Amino acid sequence: MASPVRVDLDGNPIRPITICMIGAGGFIGSHLCEKLMAETPHKVLAVDVYSDKIKHLLEGPASLPWTDRIHFHRLNIKNDSRLEGLIKMSDLTINLAAICTPADYNTRPLDTIYSNFIDALPVVKYCSENNKRLIHFSTCEVYGKTIGSFLPTDHPMRQDPAYFILKEDASPCIFGPIEKQRWSYACAKQLIERLVYAEGAENGLEFTIVRPFNWIGPRMDFIPGIDGPSEGVPRVLACFSNNLLRHEPLKLVDGGQSQRTFVYIKDAIEAVLLMIENPARANGHIFNVGNPNNEVTVRQLAEMMTEVYSKVSGEPPLEVPTVDVSSKEFYGEGYDDSDKRIPDMTIINRQLGWNPKTSLWDLLESTLTYQHRTYAEAIKQVTSKPLAS
Ligand code: NAD
Ligand code: UDP
Repeated sequence: MASPVRVDLDGNPIRPITICMIGAGGFIGSHLCEKLMAETPHKVLAVDVYSDKIKHLLEGPASLPWTDRIHFHRLNIKNDSRLEGLIKMSDLTINLAAICTPADYNTRPLDTIYSNFIDALPVVKYCSENNKRLIHFSTCEVYGKTIGSFLPTDHPMRQDPAYFILKEDASPCIFGPIEKQRWSYACAKQLIERLVYAEGAENGLEFTIVRPFNWIGPRMDFIPGIDGPSEGVPRVLACFSNNLLRHEPLKLVDGGQSQRTFVYIKDAIEAVLLMIENPARANGHIFNVGNPNNEVTVRQLAEMMTEVYSKVSGEPPLEVPTVDVSSKEFYGEGYDDSDKRIPDMTIINRQLGWNPKTSLWDLLESTLTYQHRTYAEAIKQVTSKPLAS
């Protein structure tokens, strides 16, 4: 039976394209590759220095329906002349490559700035010069702190959404002082956004900028000492997963008062696919992609993860499940934080009709089931090893 013709949001048939995906071996890239292989006819030239997270797509039996549609290119975009050729061979480039873990922003600010700005420059240039479409991954962190955070703590205007909802075309970008090197990442991302936007305005580059708001799910980052360095500090989902797997209290930085909205990676990937397949609706836009309904403080996240993990692992929670730690102790000098991040969804709703579906409880249940199944045994083996005398 012939497969049904896939159509875009305007009812036009979708033609198969070739996508150069840079950073395809990371968390978001791995989910995007899976989606493109399982549900579309598109080809992917997957570029990264690592491939572990997409090994299952690359090394499956030759009978897998997508073996001819995904090819891995192990290269570092900092210094590899093959990059332009791959962009030229593709209809669309998606750039996900970045250093994007907060523990690096204040401790490796040079690497952070180079990775998020300098290394992205040739990608933008090659797309512009060769008239290729670009989807560039930025971050919600370009908004920085909310306007409301500068009001007195009990000020009634703090409750007014105008002072905290983050809108692509209206909100300012508010960063801390230079010595707070936390903002090196946000600042580099903001400048590359401005450059992409300017290439669009002056040279006609067809672009879309994505601002992810805390996308989380399986394969995010690493578990220290298992599939990443023992001393490494990943993002909060992996930090808390690691604590739960090791039966340690979850560390709340500066009391865990910051607020975040978390969106399930599988919901967010639906939004990216809509951008890929609806260029006329996505070009020239900056999109917030998040779930405004899933807002919690980091402390509430820790409490919910403790409860969900106990349910999926069958292990009772610790009597004292969390411990407070100062940001200086946890991240070192120069750390600062975004206070609150609620995405305005007007533009993505209007252009692509996208809405997130998964509640925080449900996304944590599937993610922590994955973490337990993937890591519990390995952690048991590592922690039961006698210490060398
Ligand atoms: P990730 O670290 O899992 O993936 C990034 C990938 O890029 C990694 O596999 C890395 O090896 C690769 N890479 C980095 N530098 C490279 C280079 N020089 N050459 C080749 N490959 C290189 O991160 P992620 O969560 O998948 O994020 C992807 C993008 O989305 C990043 O640009 C990030 O800033 C942005 N983002 C993500 C989130 C989120 O919630 N996950 C939030 C805000 C922004
Ligand atoms: N955080 C925490 N404990 C941890 C890891 C992170 O309290 O073990 C906090 C961090 O200070 C921040 C929030 O969790 O307020 C989210 O951190 P993440 O690393 O996921 O990135 P961010 O959302 O800040 O970009």
